[in-house]
Amino acid sequence: MKILVINTGSSSIKYQLFEMPERKVLAKGLVERIGHDDSQVTHQYRQEGELEKHTRTMPVKDHREGLQIVSTLLTSPELGVIHDPSEVDAVGHRVVHGGEHFSATTLIGDEVLETIRRLIPLAPLHNPANLRGIEVAMEIFSSAKQVAVFDTAFHQTIPEEAFRYAIPGSFYREHGVRVYGFHGTSHLYVAKRAAEFLGKDVEDVNLITLHLGNGASVTAVKNGQSVDTSMGFSPLPGLMMGTRCGDIDPSIIFYMNRALGMGMDEIDDLLNKKSGLLGVGGNNDLRDILKRAEGGDKNARLALGMYTYRIKKYIGAYVAVLNRVDALVFTAGVGENSPLIRRMACEGLEHMGIRVNEERNRRAIGVMTEIQAAESHVRILVIPTDEELEIALQTGRIVARASREKVEK
Ligand code: AMP
Repeated sequence: MKILVINTGSSSIKYQLFEMPERKVLAKGLVERIGHDDSQVTHQYRQEGELEKHTRTMPVKDHREGLQIVSTLLTSPELGVIHDPSEVDAVGHRVVHGGEHFSATTLIGDEVLETIRRLIPLAPLHNPANLRGIEVAMEIFSSAKQVAVFDTAFHQTIPEEAFRYAIPGSFYREHGVRVYGFHGTSHLYVAKRAAEFLGKDVEDVNLITLHLGNGASVTAVKNGQSVDTSMGFSPLPGLMMGTRCGDIDPSIIFYMNRALGMGMDEIDDLLNKKSGLLGVGGNNDLRDILKRAEGGDKNARLALGMYTYRIKKYIGAYVAVLNRVDALVFTAGVGENSPLIRRMACEGLEHMGIRVNEERNRRAIGVMTEIQAAESHVRILVIPTDEELEIALQTGRIVARASREKVEK
């Protein structure tokens, strides 16, 4: 079965074509700067076992044109891996916000489309682009089943005492103000891989999964289910991120507005795009912060200290939530590649049974491995995430179930 995974952003389309169940990537790529004259198209396609790369700069007017280019590349005699768009059996879409309506992956029909549309006020930056991606894919890959995989779905098991905010209940009941959590596909994927690594069923493991990328979040996983997570109503709270502030006192927003005369849009932009590592340390890429901190730059060092302090605080909180922790799991760009961040985040947690082995940690870069010291009670794992593969797996499962049900009827 050929499954195309699509992740549509406001000005980009990321795609990956899988042969399932073999989990083989036939092609993948990215269309960036959609809406500009100098859009970038990067396409990789499998030829004799290897992925070859093709890049070009060209105007791409909108998402329809972007996905049309993807379809043309996938079916091109020189750069393609299929002959016709109808060879794609299913398209799996990453959808950021599923609200309380979707606690699992679902086949897309009119009702689902309408619900995603109704959820736009909860995810004004993401859901409109996701929706556009689905609509265009329905036209271009018209014979394929369309499936939505929600970033929020994995967190729908969080109990009410953890997902409610301490504000009057009507805001939850009438307006949906609650913790939703994000990065669910990544947390679920690494939780399953961690269980495999530990030789247990996912229903039997308690984990703290740390997705540390440009966006960052921590999840407490109890018996394979999310029971708390650091992001909330939006992807803004929790850890310090590349450009997002993470947890702050909400009164700061009133102060900025009333005393400093800043408009709401300006504050929104500041907290989402100019804060975090960028706001404190001057760069949003942790690699640049690390380089400057090494050279003695004070702001970069402070940013590093704040970044890892916040991670440590969440680990401590989730040890309290879970009681028994089988493993910490580091994943995403920073979690998979930075031994220093992993070491700093775990420093001082020895009394909780968390101790890193220096040598193992140093060698663990971008590979699945364990890095705890022999005397550590908690295993510490590094697991590369693969959200696209998880989306393909879930899409395959849903499509197979739907065709079984059709046969039984
Ligand atoms: P992601 O969102 O998962 O792609 O992660 C992106 C982030 O990972 C970037 O902001 C980088 O700062 C970080 N990153 C990637 N490689 C490294 C590395 N070798 N050391 C530290 N951070 C890294």
